[in-house]
Amino acid sequence: MMINCPRCGKRYLSEFSYEGDATLTRPDETSLMDNQAWYNYVYARVNNKEKHAELWQHSQGCRQFFVVIRDLHTHHIHHIYSMSEWQKQRQKQPENKTAEVQS
Ligand SMILES: [Zn+2]
Repeated sequence: MMINCPRCGKRYLSEFSYEGDATLTRPDETSLMDNQAWYNYVYARVNNKEKHAELWQHSQGCRQFFVVIRDLHTHHIHHIYSMSEWQKQRQKQPENKTAEVQS
């Protein structure tokens, strides 16, 4: 499997590290005592077989973080966003719809 790093271009999967779900939003400091908000952030996940936004890092290359929109069933990569592109994309999308980004 090849991943197209936004900075370096196509490289083998072995150069990259999966860093987690890119759709999560860390609870703000005002919710430090809100156990349910932290439980949801740490443990609650949607387990689907459709497109999902994943945070990846080119850990054996430029070390840049980026977001991969990948089909969890077929592993097909629909789109790759740099972090600045992803921030703009998230501002356009409702909070819980980021996993359904159109490619
Ligand atoms: Zn890179």
